[in-house]
Amino acid sequence: MSRVIVIGAGASGMMAAGYTAMYGADVTVFEKMHRAGRKLMITGKGRCNLANACDISEFMNNVPVNNKFLYSALNNFPPYDIIDFFEAQGLKTKIERGNRVFPVSDKAVDVVDTMRAFAEDNGARIVYKEVEDIIAENGAVSAVKAGDRLYHCDSVIIATGGKSYAQTGSTGDGYKFARKFGHTIV
Ligand SMILES: Cc1cc2nc3c(=O)[nH]c(=O)nc-3n(C[C@H](O)[C@H](O)[C@H](O)COP(=O)(O)OP(=O)(O)OC[C@H]3O[C@@H](n4cnc5c(N)ncnc54)[C@H](O)[C@@H]3O)c2cc1C
Repeated sequence: MSRVIVIGAGASGMMAAGYTAMYGADVTVFEKMHRAGRKLMITGKGRCNLANACDISEFMNNVPVNNKFLYSALNNFPPYDIIDFFEAQGLKTKIERGNRVFPVSDKAVDVVDTMRAFAEDNGARIVYKEVEDIIAENGAVSAVKAGDRLYHCDSVIIATGGKSYAQTGSTGDGYKFARKFGHTIV
């Protein structure tokens, strides 16, 4: 079984973990905060505007700069699929002014709990430790270093977020990891 390590239990990490585990991988998520989804908790003023009820073209028309960057992600997971995803996981949603979609409960924490349950119910484990480094041997990722030990794996998904609101855990570590492996940061 392929061993996958996901770095970061934010929105992207929990979704990546859930789907990767669903397709049969042995998945471990590392999260450096004491809880998953700390940034998600403050989104939408604590209510989490989790999607917009519109099609892709309308969505793109409302993104003023560099919207081509989003095209592939949106095509793979369009707004209505996001709403269907949460409803299928048992999270009731509602549409408000401007087609903004929120949980009926008005609580971002319910969105976090739904995503964490999706990851864990599919078999992913969340380990609350900070990843300090990614190790490669012979041109391939072989482990991550967290605390005083190495965790071996066949692949790593970097889902560490950007650099905004660093107190939620996203302190830019992903840039450091990506740079180490030759990626250009734009
Ligand atoms: C105030 C505010 C309001 C927002 N409102 C909305 C909204 O209503 N709707 C919306 O769609 N978006 C909203 N956003 C944007 C949304 O929060 C982000 O797009 C989303 O959180 C990005 O998810 P992510 O998984 O990429 O990163 P994050 O959610 O930042 O998750 C990254 C995770 O990685 C962890 N991590 C980082 N480095 C390491 C490491 N070395 N080892 C282990 N773990 C690590 C972090 O602790 C963190 O938990 C808002 C953002 C802010 C700041």
